[in-house]
Amino acid sequence: MVSLLTQIQTHGDRPALRLGPHTWSYGDLAAAAAAIGAALRVYPCQNIGLMAPPGFGYGAGLLGIWAAAKMAVPLALSYPLPELEYALNHGEVGCIVGDRTLATDEYERLQAIAQEQSIPIVWVGDCRPLEAPPTLESSSPEQPALMLFTSGTTGKPKGVVHTHGSLRAQILSLTEAWGWTGGDRILHVLPLHHIHGIVNILLCALWSGAVCEFLPRFVPSQVWERLADATLFMAVPTVYVKLIAAYQQGDAATQARDRAAAQSLRLMVSGSAALPVSVLEQWQAITGHRLLERYGMTEIGMALSQPLGGDRISGSVGQPLPHVSVRLVEDTGIPGNEGEIQVQSPTLFSEYWRNPAATAAAFTTDGWFRTGDRARDEHGQFHILGRISQDILKTGGYKVSALEIEEVLRTHPAIAECAIVGVPHATWGEKICAAVVLHPQQNLTLLELRRWAKDLLAPYKIPMELKLLEHLPRNALGKVVKPQLRSLFLSPSG
Ligand code: AMP
Repeated sequence: MVSLLTQIQTHGDRPALRLGPHTWSYGDLAAAAAAIGAALRVYPCQNIGLMAPPGFGYGAGLLGIWAAAKMAVPLALSYPLPELEYALNHGEVGCIVGDRTLATDEYERLQAIAQEQSIPIVWVGDCRPLEAPPTLESSSPEQPALMLFTSGTTGKPKGVVHTHGSLRAQILSLTEAWGWTGGDRILHVLPLHHIHGIVNILLCALWSGAVCEFLPRFVPSQVWERLADATLFMAVPTVYVKLIAAYQQGDAATQARDRAAAQSLRLMVSGSAALPVSVLEQWQAITGHRLLERYGMTEIGMALSQPLGGDRISGSVGQPLPHVSVRLVEDTGIPGNEGEIQVQSPTLFSEYWRNPAATAAAFTTDGWFRTGDRARDEHGQFHILGRISQDILKTGGYKVSALEIEEVLRTHPAIAECAIVGVPHATWGEKICAAVVLHPQQNLTLLELRRWAKDLLAPYKIPMELKLLEHLPRNALGKVVKPQLRSLFLSPSG
């Protein structure tokens, strides 16, 4: 089986990664991966953290970890210390690949946590090229390759483990479905600790011998500028909403330039959250591109996609991708035209790290993965109806657990009780709203809560709205009635 490491070596000195004025070739990547791999082999641990900004260091670091036959655990740049600590401890990370081009605050957080946890850092820039870089060897398909954290309906995030085999199956399915070639150039603006940014964009590009251009940060005007040089673009709906807003603020000349920039592209993809039809239509009016919508999940990779050629029906996420089997199962347990999306596929994860009970619970007795999302099949086209659990929120493309945020908020000295709900929002998809009951004689504003939470939660998990209540609405069993809370945030007077 050809692995990604073997595959990139076939692309020779063609350009692989770009950032600003810098371009790195596939040869540069392979040489750096070999050097990092040699440095990592010294350490006995199996799980290696990766904290690098978008750019060469990230790509070389990821491939270097695989060259050492170890598992990569990408760390979000936006994680505050407690979230980093959880990822390192739960992920049993014994060494971190770091990049000194991190922003100052990211660099300081990495140094602080590594020191506190006595975890060595291997800096990408310090790994001297080997005299004669060895041929990078393939790992076996069963070997763990990547651990990504995902929020679930129980407490802390779970570590989703993908093997080299499941990653390769995802790459093959997507490159086939979306017609990737070595002539493609993709503009990368998504986080590099999520499956969308890592697999759909970076790994598919590297497999195909394409060029992946990173933007250091998401700045809409820069995205519009750089689109002119791309053939592919993939993003979450929030990114498209922000690009539309930036376009609308431009003068006539800028708008004409932006429209022209979109002409070079052959495909633009949206996913990771529901794409409102209004956004799809606005985007089409501006750029002439009808966004291709796809559906997927950290545990399964991508499962459903509208076609590359042929009709893309508004509000639908198309059909199963190559090599992926999908069925819809009614509450009765009988497959039909509507119900929970269940998946069988070589793209599936192997396990939740150190959580065999959760892994077992995620599958039906006949071996299908339960996504927790509902859909309807209309003449062979799947339409997503929503999630089964109201405690899973999607904000800006990120999957967030209401329970995880509630657990953190309960540690605030003024808070007696709290509940988190998601409320529809034009830019973010869902907005995180907190209903809070305070201890007697306490007060709390949204600003105070947000300031306090920023040291404990990643920015996208911090509530955007706060309501102080006398008591939370509960049913006879004492369970918080979240639909009632949600309507409180939705009502104009509430
Ligand atoms: P994640 O594991 O973070 O990629 O989140 C996966 C979840 O995102 C799925 O279980 C869905 O709830 C949601 N999702 C992904 N793609 C779509 C889509 N095209 N439409 C609606 N929801 C989506």
